[in-house]
Amino acid sequence: MANIIYGNELSKELKEKMALEIEDYAKKGYRLPKLAVILVGNNHASLSYIKGKEKACAEIGINTITKHLEEDISQEELENLLVDLSKDDEIDGILLQLPLPKGFDEARAIACINPDKDVDGLTPINVGKLFLGEEGGFYPCTPLGIMELLKKMECEIAGKRAVVIGRSKLVGTPIARLLQNENATVTIAHSKTKNIEALCKEADILVVAIGRAKMVDDNYVKDGAYVIDVGINKDEEGKLCGDVDFDKVCDIAKAITPVPKGVGPMTICMLLSNTLLSYKRRMVL
Ligand code: NAP
Repeated sequence: MANIIYGNELSKELKEKMALEIEDYAKKGYRLPKLAVILVGNNHASLSYIKGKEKACAEIGINTITKHLEEDISQEELENLLVDLSKDDEIDGILLQLPLPKGFDEARAIACINPDKDVDGLTPINVGKLFLGEEGGFYPCTPLGIMELLKKMECEIAGKRAVVIGRSKLVGTPIARLLQNENATVTIAHSKTKNIEALCKEADILVVAIGRAKMVDDNYVKDGAYVIDVGINKDEEGKLCGDVDFDKVCDIAKAITPVPKGVGPMTICMLLSNTLLSYKRRMVL
């Protein structure tokens, strides 16, 4: 039976540590860290994600300021706001909630965020730093959360064979790069990959970020592999489930993350961690 690693428990541990650290800075007379959250329009899921992020920030002592903009504002107005927040000394992190409504140029908007406050790790400068293996930038939150989960699994990454299924900009591609930067030998699989089961069977570390309920079963998993399930889907009964068929893989893997309570809670936790990191860099702490 695999060691089940719960992201909600790990994130609680990490949040408690961060809360103590922030309390300590406050006692020494420093201001609290501050995150600016920008939402354009009224996308239902985005509104609920933002509430979750605001609540998590409040729990550990990070102040938030939310700018909720109407869907009919112009690209230029959005960009001006991002530039102003980028210059504001009191703001440590800027989070532009994606996706933007139709008609906006996301890449142009993201490029207006000061890379030093880009706590989602999406600006071209930070993407470049990740790909060049350079320090001093910000890495995207879900991949960072996965790295913390692998650490918790006590998985030695260097020298391991890793397969990542999925090549999205937000998850598959950056986690593959983080694993390579830690000296894993990495293969990225996607919808056009041939013999995907055999390929995955060779992986010591298998990261699955597809968006297909329970697609990855025991035929994909090597004995003793570390399995990270990023997927968020609904099964036939409407229950939340991952991309991995947990019941079939659980006896084979050495360690595995469940869905829910796996990668999801770690994503928000890493947003907090990046905001605190930005604050410490900016305050020279
Ligand atoms: P995405 O942008 O839709 O990318 C999905 C990837 O899976 C693509 O690269 C696609 O290949 C590949 N794929 C699709 N069908 C496949 C198949 N049959 N075999 C092999 N590869 C296949 O998705 P995403 O944003 O990376 O998200 C993936 C999942 O993670 C979703 O369920 C999402 O909800 C979840 N997610 C969770 C969190 C979290 O915090 N827990 C965060 C982000 C995403 P092609 O490139 O060839 O199309």
